[in-house]
Amino acid sequence: RAKALGRGCTEIYQNAEHLEARAQFRLETDLRHAVWRRELTLNYQPLIDLKTGRPHSFEALARWHHPTRGFVSPVEFIPVAESTGLIVELGRWALDEACRTLAQWRSDGVAPDDLRVAVNVSALQFARDDLVAVVLNALERYDLPGRCLELEITESAIAEHPQKAVDVLNQLKAQDVIIAMDDFGTGYSSLGALQQLPIDILKIDRSFIAGMLELEESHKLVCTVLSLASHLGKATVAEGIERFDQAVALRDLGCTLGQGYAFSRPVDNAHAAEFLRRTAAQAIAF
Ligand code: C2E
Ligand code: MG
Ligand code: MG
Ligand code: MG
Repeated sequence: RAKALGRGCTEIYQNAEHLEARAQFRLETDLRHAVWRRELTLNYQPLIDLKTGRPHSFEALARWHHPTRGFVSPVEFIPVAESTGLIVELGRWALDEACRTLAQWRSDGVAPDDLRVAVNVSALQFARDDLVAVVLNALERYDLPGRCLELEITESAIAEHPQKAVDVLNQLKAQDVIIAMDDFGTGYSSLGALQQLPIDILKIDRSFIAGMLELEESHKLVCTVLSLASHLGKATVAEGIERFDQAVALRDLGCTLGQGYAFSRPVDNAHAAEFLRRTAAQAIAF
């Protein structure tokens, strides 16, 4: 009996594993079609200048509306896109779409001349030889200056390809493109790399912002990163600001920009334009 039970358990287990593998496979094949079926969109979340209370830039964040599963989080589909290589196509689309949107806002007169859009770039895109060409292509197509585009790269993407990093980032800088290091504090970066690479902005990961007013450790870490950035002459972004008391504390500590639900969730193109109109009339007070 014990033996029979044992076999049953193994079967159930194998079955669950099988189902999960199938679900994963479905997600992959569905994602393959998502771009041209127009199931992917970009949402935009403002980064607020903490001194003036005005939007400084918008981060473009991919959204997938699956025909039957509904909304699928990027936390779920970006890793699938990365492991299958689909991120290359998805990333090219995101760059193009973000530039198209910014150009539209500019021609509609809602975007100030220096407003930027920030696009996430994954390690795999970074490792390829065509990233610079793809970026220049998007800028040219929509007649945008390089300074209006920011690329967000994680610490780990840079650490995985240190040689490539120097080369690619320098080429992008030559076109005035702004470089931000995303999720700073969660990976490993050598201080040497930070100093040598043309990185303009450090984005402090939201896991540190969440507890910065309650946890001594988080507070210390935030202060340390802000002071490091200021010594290196880099701007700073605090991600995941959910409350205005955090925004006030960060401003007092000299953090340059703030991003988070306290100011706005990521919203679609039209709502982002509306946010621009509203904040042009009146800055956010906090
Ligand atoms: P990320 O680049 O670090 O983006 C910030 C994430 O924090 C976004 O999650 C955003 O919605 C979320 N967030 C912003 N403010 C708050 C807040 O106040 N509280 C909380 N709890 N969360 C906040 P999202 O949109 O789910 O994206 C998750 C990750 O997926 C991104 O993290 C990025 O790594 C990746 N991703 C999204 N779109 C793209 C893309 O087009 N290309 C690539 N390569 N990665 C992308
Ligand atoms: Mg990002
Ligand atoms: Mg981030
Ligand atoms: Mg993050």
